[in-house]
Amino acid sequence: MISLNTKLEDLTQIPKSYLKKLAKLNLISVQDLLKHFPFRYDDFSKICKINQLTIDLEATVIGKITNIKTVFTKRKHILLTEAILEDETGKIKLIWFNQAYLKSSFPINSEVRVSGKTIFKDFEIYFSSPKIEKINQKPNSTGRLVPIYSETAGLTSKWIRWQIQTLFKKNLNLKDFLPQEFLDELNLPSLEKAMQMIHFPKNIKETILAKKRFDFENMFILQLITLMIRSEISQQKSFSIKMDEKLIQDFVKKLSFSLTDAQRKSSFQILKDLEKSNPMNRLLNGDVGSGKTLVSAIASLQCLNKNYQVVILVPSEVLAFQHFQTFLKLFEDYNFEIGLLTSSYKVYGNHPALTKKTSREKMLDLIKNKKIDLIIGTHALIQEDVNFKKLALVIIDEQHRFGVEQRSAILQKNNKNKVPHLLTMTATPIPRTFALSIFGDLDVSILNEKPSERKEIKTQIVNYKNQAIVYSFIKEEMKKGRQVFIIFPLVQESEILDNVKAVVTEHNKLQKEIFPDFSVGLIHGKLKSKEKEEIMLKFKNHQIDILVSTSVIEVGVDIPNANTMIIENAERFGLSQLHQFRGRIGRGTHQSYCFLFSEKNSERLQAMEKFSDGFKLADIDFKLRGPGEIIGLKQSGLPNGVMKNLGNLKLVTLAREKAKYILEKDPELNDLPELKQIVLGFNKKTHFE
Ligand code: ADP
Ligand code: MG
Repeated sequence: MISLNTKLEDLTQIPKSYLKKLAKLNLISVQDLLKHFPFRYDDFSKICKINQLTIDLEATVIGKITNIKTVFTKRKHILLTEAILEDETGKIKLIWFNQAYLKSSFPINSEVRVSGKTIFKDFEIYFSSPKIEKINQKPNSTGRLVPIYSETAGLTSKWIRWQIQTLFKKNLNLKDFLPQEFLDELNLPSLEKAMQMIHFPKNIKETILAKKRFDFENMFILQLITLMIRSEISQQKSFSIKMDEKLIQDFVKKLSFSLTDAQRKSSFQILKDLEKSNPMNRLLNGDVGSGKTLVSAIASLQCLNKNYQVVILVPSEVLAFQHFQTFLKLFEDYNFEIGLLTSSYKVYGNHPALTKKTSREKMLDLIKNKKIDLIIGTHALIQEDVNFKKLALVIIDEQHRFGVEQRSAILQKNNKNKVPHLLTMTATPIPRTFALSIFGDLDVSILNEKPSERKEIKTQIVNYKNQAIVYSFIKEEMKKGRQVFIIFPLVQESEILDNVKAVVTEHNKLQKEIFPDFSVGLIHGKLKSKEKEEIMLKFKNHQIDILVSTSVIEVGVDIPNANTMIIENAERFGLSQLHQFRGRIGRGTHQSYCFLFSEKNSERLQAMEKFSDGFKLADIDFKLRGPGEIIGLKQSGLPNGVMKNLGNLKLVTLAREKAKYILEKDPELNDLPELKQIVLGFNKKTHFE
């Protein structure tokens, strides 16, 4: 029997040569194929007599082929097939291009069904390239609402329709995993019915009803997952760390600036969470440059001071190194040992001048025996041989760069049976309704305020013909001692090599011809991390004035002296990404400038000129392109069907309510094994908590 999980490669109906093409559309299992929903329908459900046909009508005619021939057109030498279709009311001409086989498939006297749109030319109404099927064949491409699927080379909608039709003829086991009471209450079709309705609709109403069911189903599963994770966490035990107000106040007093209100509020929420005996699971959602690092330092301080260990996990060596330096400085007056562990660094110390190099073994030993209190590192920290003695807090910076498994691995590294508190941080501003849908009941602290002495970044779209003006402007800025980023787009992964070549050429030109008196550095994705690191460090230490970069430029890098940025071919980047790039500047006290080089003056670029608030821009990006483009969400692995509804508060609320109701009765979903299986499978593929 064929089930949803049956692999397409195990179906005899599918020729092996098609498997690769199917995989291109991410269609691996029967479920994938059935969930490859049509994106539109051709309405050929209207059956007409030939004498009823008018111009520009989508229609189906049933009749007999009374003539069919193939000729070469005189002018362009295209193979033209011409046929005459007759019914009892009249006749009409049908034409196709380059489809010579039709002549043998539909010889004279064939009884056929023809669907298409009528056109009027040369004083005649006829069908151009209509769909045609024998009358004794079940309607597939004609005579009904015909679903149109997204296709790939060699894989047509017609073929997909055919495969789905064949599947339905077999003994498909489409047992519904939604509780019947929901279907009844919400008036939704069963799984099997909904599949029928979406692939073989009798009318448009059916397709709408089917979509309603699938939208609910997806959101319901997402809500179940977030609620289940939530409940799992609430049952775990963690370290309850009492807040020490004086400690925090003294720390904050010594800073050269005062906290923003948003930093103060978020810090307080976190410190309160740390007091609880079950683990914190909080997301710090802050715009670029909103000062997340400092908030994480305050949380760390509270734990370190009570003699616990803290880990800060970051996605790149550059960032790890930067954080290491920042924390050494921030905690200079405290007695905490701070360590940096990445694949290239194994150093520790408690003062910038006192750091010591050591081997990985020695580092691991120090960590295990709590000779190091605060450990900063990359993926190298997740490896099996890393263990802690008293790990109370895990901080993950740029959380979307880590998968679920990596996150849970780091949480299990204590040799106590307590789970550390978790603080994840992201610089992707997530609109509120989204946060609610994706993160469920996860606690979110929002930093929507930038440090007050920051000046707004002046942003301007610049046509390439005015390039020289910008170049002389940045020369002036550099003479004043400032530094500059120039970003080139990387269009597609497959173009990496070409792109590197292009950016190397550009770099040469910029260094030799345009800015010979300044030092121009280059960073791109093909460099080793050590090399990248060295360049970032040189830029940070101002040995480089201009840094030319592909879009690999690290998130989170903080170089306050860099105040100017050029983004080349800016129209190729998404709004959120542009905003992330721009976040690299405007971090110091100098006026900052961002130039968007582009021939186009698109809505997106105009939004960049107008707004600097990342939350506002995320909203606009969502409206312009849908949520899938918001950084981090794309990597979350959420199916498109869920993505598009993340902003649908009504649906989210309904799904949440139903998920709560189910889990109250049956927290482990033991009575709903099909649903449980889906939830577990879904959770493995996605990560967003
Ligand atoms: P992000 O939120 O992007 O990670 P960072 O934590 O790197 O931002 O902070 C950006 C810069 O702002 C750092 O140089 C930091 O020292 C500084 N900063 C943080 N908080 C404040 C504040 N309240 N006032 C002034 N500057 C601050
Ligand atoms: Mg940061």
